[in-house]
Amino acid sequence: MKFLIHTYGCQMNVRDSEAVEALLVAAGHEKAASEADAELVIVNSCTVRQKAEEKAIGKTGNLCAEGKLTGLMGCAVKRLGEEVFRKLPKLDFAVGPRAIGLIPKIISDGVFPRLELADDAMSQALASHMSGGVQAFVTILVGCDNRCSYCIVPDVRGHEYSRPAREIIAEVRALVENGVKEVCLLGQSVLRYGVRNAAWDDSDAPSPGGYKEAFPRLLEALSAISGLERIRFTSAHPKGCTDELIRAYKEFPKVCRHLHLPVQSGSDRILADMGRHYTRAEYLAAVAKLRELDPGFALTTDVIVGYPGETEADFEETRTLMEEAGFDNSFIFKYSPRPGTRSAAKPDDVPKAEKERRDQVLLADQEARGLRRNAVCVGTVREVMVEGPSKRNKARFSGRDGGNRIVVWDVSPGEQAPRAGEVLQLRIIDAHAQILIGERI
Ligand code: SAH
Ligand code: SF4
Repeated sequence: MKFLIHTYGCQMNVRDSEAVEALLVAAGHEKAASEADAELVIVNSCTVRQKAEEKAIGKTGNLCAEGKLTGLMGCAVKRLGEEVFRKLPKLDFAVGPRAIGLIPKIISDGVFPRLELADDAMSQALASHMSGGVQAFVTILVGCDNRCSYCIVPDVRGHEYSRPAREIIAEVRALVENGVKEVCLLGQSVLRYGVRNAAWDDSDAPSPGGYKEAFPRLLEALSAISGLERIRFTSAHPKGCTDELIRAYKEFPKVCRHLHLPVQSGSDRILADMGRHYTRAEYLAAVAKLRELDPGFALTTDVIVGYPGETEADFEETRTLMEEAGFDNSFIFKYSPRPGTRSAAKPDDVPKAEKERRDQVLLADQEARGLRRNAVCVGTVREVMVEGPSKRNKARFSGRDGGNRIVVWDVSPGEQAPRAGEVLQLRIIDAHAQILIGERI
């Protein structure tokens, strides 16, 4: 059957969709070239904010109306349960984020409507990849046990579980044999790898560098895989910025000097209410450690504006923290109460227009700061991994430096076109807030 998957939400969802694609292809199905061509369409949904959920449900509703076999997967399914069929009466099947391994079987069984929410066939799904690219996502940790007050992720993605290191190493080896040059390790809180359940067992060879913590030890093991050029990971919690992690950054050049370190707020009062388990000073101390290691270390973050009870003074604290931390990029979210979370019990008392204003203020700050941070790169030579030609201009190529900064450069007609995955030395000649302009040297 020809199928297509539409993905909403975070990189975890991107990875889950890729795993389902691989499972469907292995079961004899075929990726459709376009929506019109598809006989089966699946929407992978997000529910982290109400708007995100509405988008995915709306899209699914439109697809259902076309009369094709239609499925919904991901976080919104787990939140809605049976209700999903009341919202979408023509939906054929719905699968929660930890049951995605069942999708090929659901299709071959052919019994609809069907709802699957339990943990099932997860490890099989996690090990499946589509071949082709030079970059791959590898999920190392599923679920989350942090229970931040505003967040629905623990309800929909379940308890935290670290996959065995041995499984991950084998998976990355296989990916590299298939041409992958860069992996991005995924989890809600990757620095908690191996904390809730052991990731390494006694029969695993000891760490050559004497690493005791599970995550730095994983970085060490993956660094030893020849042919792998770059290792990234996301997301991280500042509590995990340990001395061993810093040592791993120093010792393993394949580990990119970029960290997505969501701060959420700069106000201690709000951070405590959110249950983030760090203060503004502790967060900034983690940032200082990374910048001491490398002043060019790229830092990105997530921030929520308009959390219940957030005053103008709290908001100013967020603004000043963002300036002090000097984020290279940031993702600003307007608070959205999620049913069943702790903060949903509080009045959502920051008016919509005020949330919008705070959002705009932080976006404008980030635009200026991004430009300033990027301007420092002008004149430097950077190692850029080629991703491919730009969609609009085939003579222009795009790639990323180790700090995850997007670099574009022109390739003259006579010049041999660079290959995806190739690492080039480029001199930066100009900077914008979101991209750097380079030239071959
Ligand atoms: N596990 C990651 C974040 C996962 S959710 C972490 O802890 O860093 C991605 C981002 O969505 C969060 O960092 C937060 O900024 C935002 N977010 C989560 N719940 C939200 C809510 N109820 N309203 C607005 N933004 C939210
Ligand atoms: Fe949500 Fe907090 Fe877990 Fe991140 S760490 S997924 S914000 S509960």
